[in-house]
Order: sequence, then C-alpha cells, then structure tokens
Amino acid sequence: MRTLIVSLLVWAVSFASVRVMDARAPAESDPPAQIAVVPILMYHHVGGRAGRYHVPQAVFDWQMDYLGQNGFTAVSIEQIAVALTGGPPLPPKPVAITFDDGWRRQVTATLPALTRNNLRATYFIIYSHAERYSGFMNFDQLRQLRDAGMWIGSHTVSHPHLPGLADKHLAFELRASREALEAVIEQPVTTLAYPGGAYDARVMRATQEAGYLAAVTVRGGYEQRSDALYALRRFEVNGAWSKERFISLVEAPFAPPAQPEP
Ligand SMILES: [Zn+2]
Repeated sequence: MRTLIVSLLVWAVSFASVRVMDARAPAESDPPAQIAVVPILMYHHVGGRAGRYHVPQAVFDWQMDYLGQNGFTAVSIEQIAVALTGGPPLPPKPVAITFDDGWRRQVTATLPALTRNNLRATYFIIYSHAERYSGFMNFDQLRQLRDAGMWIGSHTVSHPHLPGLADKHLAFELRASREALEAVIEQPVTTLAYPGGAYDARVMRATQEAGYLAAVTVRGGYEQRSDALYALRRFEVNGAWSKERFISLVEAPFAPPAQPEP
C-alpha cells in the first residue's frame, strides 16, 4: 500500500512537472524547437522579360529599394541557422535574399541595388559551371561578390537530382562543392540550396554530414525551425508579380495583429 502511495506521489509530481514543461515542449525528452520568422527570397535571373524565373531589372531594383527603405535587414542563411541554435538573435524585420545557379549576369544586375540599400545576399553556385561556362560566374566574380559583402553558398558540383544519387555520389556532390568553393573564396561555405528543390531524409542527413549548417528548399513559408535546419523554407519571387504582391509577401509576417472592431 505504502509503495503504491509513494509511486502515486512520484507519478503525480512527475505528471505535474511534465504539465509545467508542456507549455514549452511536447515531450520532456525533446527540447522545444526554436522558431525564427524570416522570409527567404529566391531569385534566378535578374533582367529580361518578366516570368517565373526572370525578374526584370527595374522590378528587382524597386524591390531592393523597398526592402532598404522599409526597415528590413538582410541576413545570411548561416545567421538564421546560428540564431536557431542558440546564437545571437536575428535583427528586427530580417529578410534573406538568395540567387540560384550563379548566372554571370547576376553580378552586375544585382550588386548596385543591393549595395545602395545596404543589403547583402547569398549566391548559390553550381561549382562545375563557374569559370567553365561563359553564362556563369568566374572565380574572380565570386571573389568580387565576397568583397562586396555578399555570401556564397553551394548549389552542388553539377546540379543533379540529389535524391536519385547513390550514397557515394551524393556525398561527393555535397562535400566537393563546399570544399572547392571554400578554396576559391578562402572563407567557409556553410549553406546549400538543393538543386530543383529536391531532397529527402537521406539527402538532409548527407548534407549535415558534408559539413553544412543549413540548407534551403523551394517550399514557401515564413517559419524557420531548429528541427528543420536542412529544410529551410524559401519563397520564389515571380517576375510578373505586382508591387503589392511583393509588399504583402515580405511584410505579412511583420504586420501588427489586426485591431478588433470597436
Ligand atoms: Zn538551380
């Protein structure tokens, strides 16, 4: 009987403590996931006629001016990962600006509007295309971006569909691109964009094992989570969007809650 009472007491006490923890965490063993609200924007081509992968120059310039004049601070993907894992918190109204594939035109098309607005961006580079193909950045341009305060991330060696690769090939695409880019810019490369946005649980594990802190997808969403560092959410900016559409995309997570009607 006494044992029963004691064990009931122990159960009650532990139940109470679990209840107290409940406000923060779903289970005692799992620390609560940290959440940061950050729109991560994805661009491909800047310039040309408006389309899904082409944001006209004037539209892009206006978008960067908007961010610069409305209290946004551009952060890197690494900064988001660090903030989610106990590091310094993000500034108010953070936004991450990213460019995929390393097209050569991105350098001249994006730097003026970024720098005049005190914005920084991340360029995800396909390592085997850089320097080799005329449409893609050369190594000097990667260093030019670095010197302008921009960040370089990996978009793998050859832009394959990662979930379809055998383990060894997958590890090569991830690790070799990181190390080769680091040798070019002489700085750590800690973030990855999945080619075509394709990933699965094995790809996420391999990305972590290859030394990355975080990876971005092409799934939209504002909540970046510490339990999904290898599946950060990112919005594709469509070149045909109106100004209002862009404003609502970037402002929505920071808008004050609607006041109840009097
Ligand atoms: Zn790509």
